[in-house]
Amino acid sequence: MDWMTGGNIWLVAANLFLGLLLVFWMWRCRELVARARRTRDRYRATIENLAEGIYQRSCTTGRMVSANTSLARICGLRTSAELLAAVNCGRQTWYVEPGRHDAFMRRLLRDGAVSNFVSEVHRHDTGKPIWVTESARIVRDERTGRPLFYEGSVRDITELVRHNQLEERLEKLADNLPGGLFQLVRRPDGRFACPYVSTSFVTLLGLERPTDEIRVNDYLRHVHGEDLAGYLAALDRSARQMTFWAHEFRYIRDPSTTMWLLVTATPEKLADGSIIWHGYVCDVSQRKIAEQQIHKLAYYDPLTDLPNRRLFTQRLEEAIAANRRRDEHGAVLFIDIDNFKTLNDTQGHEMGDLLLAQVALRLRECVRERDTVGRFGGDEFVLLLDGLGADRADAIANATGAANKILREFDRGFNLAGMLHSATPSIGIVVFDGDSHTTAEIIKGADIAMYEAKKSGRNNYAVFDPASLKSVADVYSLQRELGAAIRRRELFFEFQPVVEADGRVVGAEALMRWNHPQRGILAPGEFVPMAEMTGLIMDISEWALDQAVATLADWRQRPALQGISLAVNISVQQFRSDEFVERMRRRIAESGIDPARLTLELTEHVMARDPETVARRMEALKQIGLRFSLDDFGTGYSSLSQLNRFPFDEVKIDGAFVSDIEHRAQNRTLIEAILGMARALGLDTVAEHVGSPYQVEFLEARGCMRFQGFYYHPPISIAALVDLVDAQQPRLRVVNA
Ligand code: GH3
Ligand code: MG
Repeated sequence: MDWMTGGNIWLVAANLFLGLLLVFWMWRCRELVARARRTRDRYRATIENLAEGIYQRSCTTGRMVSANTSLARICGLRTSAELLAAVNCGRQTWYVEPGRHDAFMRRLLRDGAVSNFVSEVHRHDTGKPIWVTESARIVRDERTGRPLFYEGSVRDITELVRHNQLEERLEKLADNLPGGLFQLVRRPDGRFACPYVSTSFVTLLGLERPTDEIRVNDYLRHVHGEDLAGYLAALDRSARQMTFWAHEFRYIRDPSTTMWLLVTATPEKLADGSIIWHGYVCDVSQRKIAEQQIHKLAYYDPLTDLPNRRLFTQRLEEAIAANRRRDEHGAVLFIDIDNFKTLNDTQGHEMGDLLLAQVALRLRECVRERDTVGRFGGDEFVLLLDGLGADRADAIANATGAANKILREFDRGFNLAGMLHSATPSIGIVVFDGDSHTTAEIIKGADIAMYEAKKSGRNNYAVFDPASLKSVADVYSLQRELGAAIRRRELFFEFQPVVEADGRVVGAEALMRWNHPQRGILAPGEFVPMAEMTGLIMDISEWALDQAVATLADWRQRPALQGISLAVNISVQQFRSDEFVERMRRRIAESGIDPARLTLELTEHVMARDPETVARRMEALKQIGLRFSLDDFGTGYSSLSQLNRFPFDEVKIDGAFVSDIEHRAQNRTLIEAILGMARALGLDTVAEHVGSPYQVEFLEARGCMRFQGFYYHPPISIAALVDLVDAQQPRLRVVNA
């Protein structure tokens, strides 16, 4: 084998070596290709698994060369193949606003790259809009610089955009709220800070500085001085109890604007021991003003701006409690203007209102700042004098001092729209301490005392007897019982004979009695004033008239009594009733009595108001045939000279003058004047309370015609009266015979 010779051996070895080299090279190449494939697959997997969408597209045709699954998913498709098919075959159903896409391409071609280009895209599957941000760059041929394709990444930023939009909206909302949002922090060292306030907070509070510079002291400086302590106390309470903080306070925005603010906030404890309140503050001035108006209407009298009964009673209640603590006295003065109705009736209600407003001012001037002046309505005013000291006598002196001052103030007269008007008050005083008296008892006591002042001639004051405060309670129970007394037939008449000087009975005055189941027989003085105050007087007076007419009707059947006349007292209220005349007419017609036998006794008070109407009404009743007697003459204020304006038949001289004529020259003079006047006017005269022969002699000598009093007869029952009159019949018969 010569080819196996020396030279050939080298050739064979070289070929073998080259063959091996070739095999190695091929193996190596395969190895490199496999590694490259693995790397490519790894990159592809990485790209596939990126949250961002990745793509490559041709710059010239726009064809999408590649895309990862994330991009397909962002667009609402399942795979990148679907995506490529959709894009490259023009079947894409997601939607990018074309103008936005063009802008993107323009910028890409101009700059070679675009970063964070945000667009709104509608998804393929649901059509739902999402927000994406896209960055891309053009990839060029390294040698020629020619654009090969562009590649880009797309990120779904919907969540981020929504979050930002939400924040923006919240911010907008916060700034457009009527009130302001804030966060207030109280650090462990007690210092405050304001980490956040909304712009609306700054605007509302007029703080005029950027929100991040708000300092708590700037804000607190504006809190109304009277409200600051309460404000801080409420905040402190919220911190201690970790409870909701809600507080209303006044805030002085600028010297001319004070607002009512309501702050509400929830506290939260922070790790370092600080407390942060998340809160809201708003302007509640409108509501506060409305509330204040409602309060005003509920507690103040609109005409005079004075506290009304409700507020006055509250203040009185507080005064009683304070007196109890301090062992002191206070006083209530009940003030009623005399004959106020006359002003209303003659000058009009507006003038009446003017007077009431001026009286309110005068009363305020009469008392100290701490005292309360109130109006109960009508012409009734009340004063609460507080802190009158521990000594009762001093307190009474103080209260009567105030009453005198008021009387003097009224004496100055009032200027009512240029018209000078003189008005007088009647004042009732109750001095009270902290002991067990209710406001109702005190006010009622003052009212009763005021009534006493009226009775004693008006323009006067009377002090309610403290010892009889207990009797105020009695008055209440009487008041309740009186309502039922008529129904239960507990009222009845006694009759006081009216006689001529020789003792012959010519008439009788019907005097009302109340047979009280527990208290026994009560005289009118014990229940009529109370009935007048409560309005029950109307029922009682009507009963009295019915009874008087029935009595006269009964007397018609008894010959002995046919010539006897009967007098009955008419209350002021009853006489003022418009139906009075008509009712009287009906009574007379129905009963068939002789009206001339019935005398209606009126007091001077009837004439005090609206004299024209009173006179007309009297005339109408006189037409029916009734007689009129002026009762208690001399006690009131009607002047003798006025008497001829009213068609009275008779004047009754008040018992107070009669019983004193022995001792008081003044009374004797007055009686002489009354009797002289009565004679001149052609009026009959009756003297009341006649108690002695001297009195009869004196009165008769000066022309008094009739008498009534214990000297002759006390009030007696109807049976006794019948007996009495019957007894004088034989004498009459003898005389007649
Ligand atoms: P007396 O001396 O007995 O007090 O008689 P008077 O005329 O003052 O009568 P009284 O106190 O009972 O009358 C109060 C009147 O006040 C009754 C009512 O017509 C009138 N009045 C009530 N409220 C008002 C008001 O707001 N304005 C005016 N002008 N008059 C009122
Ligand atoms: Mg009055």
